[in-house]
Amino acid sequence: MTNTSMRVLSPAAIVLLVLSFSILSVTGQITHVPLFDGENAYTYLVDQCDFGPRPPGSENLSLCAGYIAVTLESFGWNITYQNFTYQETACSNLIATWNATENASLVFGAHYDTRPEATSDPDPLNRTKPILGANDGASGTAVLIELARILSESIRSSVEFVFFDAEDSGGIAGWSWIQGSTYYVSQLDSERVDSIDAMVLVDMVGDAELQLPRESTSTRSLQNTIWSIANQMGYSETFLSTNGGSILDDHRPFLDAGIAAVDIIHTPFPWYWHTLEDTPDKCSAESLSKVGEVLEVFIVENANTDGTFPLDTPYLIYIGIIVAISLPIIVAFYYYRKRY
Ligand SMILES: [Zn+2]
Repeated sequence: MTNTSMRVLSPAAIVLLVLSFSILSVTGQITHVPLFDGENAYTYLVDQCDFGPRPPGSENLSLCAGYIAVTLESFGWNITYQNFTYQETACSNLIATWNATENASLVFGAHYDTRPEATSDPDPLNRTKPILGANDGASGTAVLIELARILSESIRSSVEFVFFDAEDSGGIAGWSWIQGSTYYVSQLDSERVDSIDAMVLVDMVGDAELQLPRESTSTRSLQNTIWSIANQMGYSETFLSTNGGSILDDHRPFLDAGIAAVDIIHTPFPWYWHTLEDTPDKCSAESLSKVGEVLEVFIVENANTDGTFPLDTPYLIYIGIIVAISLPIIVAFYYYRKRY
């Protein structure tokens, strides 16, 4: 480029720069540069898998719980073991809080147990063997551990991390699904329920070809907020706008308690779901990073605010309104026809 063209282009370039900054300030509200490190998260995923399969009640799972606790404590978080017994099995949710006396308004959850039997394995001989759960168990947990590391201390008291036990044994030996989250919610008093603005669940978020359509029972306003951040960050090919159907997962007990909740989950489930092939090589640091970055921005934007996420109006209320309006009209019409 010559000096002459520089002189001609410079004012135009300045105008363009000013224009693009003003457009950015109107449309792109995201100013926070994410610190979330996908490679770190991937290491946390592999670390969990190194304990082997981690079904409820197993020594592997209690070793993994110790690993999660020690790691978060090293970042300064307080860890509480929430112990409960289910089907004569000792289970533990792990709860990480920054300031135990304060009620965090944002609760992030993931299950850290893995399925005791590979019930969907194509080989019938494998179907009673436990799965490794790299994606189904370790991936969501890994994202939460990395978030716990990178959040700035000024916003940590707005956040609570819960690692659920006993999520993934449904249909085996009389077990139901989502027992850890069910127990956790059963222990909340009404004051604590009211103080939670949002519950965000991550489950199966590690697949190298991650696809996250919108889970249909999640609270729309909360889901819209997260998906909008993902769009602005250029992740709309991962956070899809399509309907992902209804999933029974650890967000359900929160929804049932009247808490806004969203499930961030890969659907349709990957081909290796509940098989012995759910191993770290199916997952990638890039996928973990996309989810982690979006959640980091979500936390930065929603910590220390009074913002709440309106709950969806149950469809039964809509049906009730339609009946309430149409019934008198039908009755009036009936009597009108009878009289004349
Ligand atoms: Zn599962």
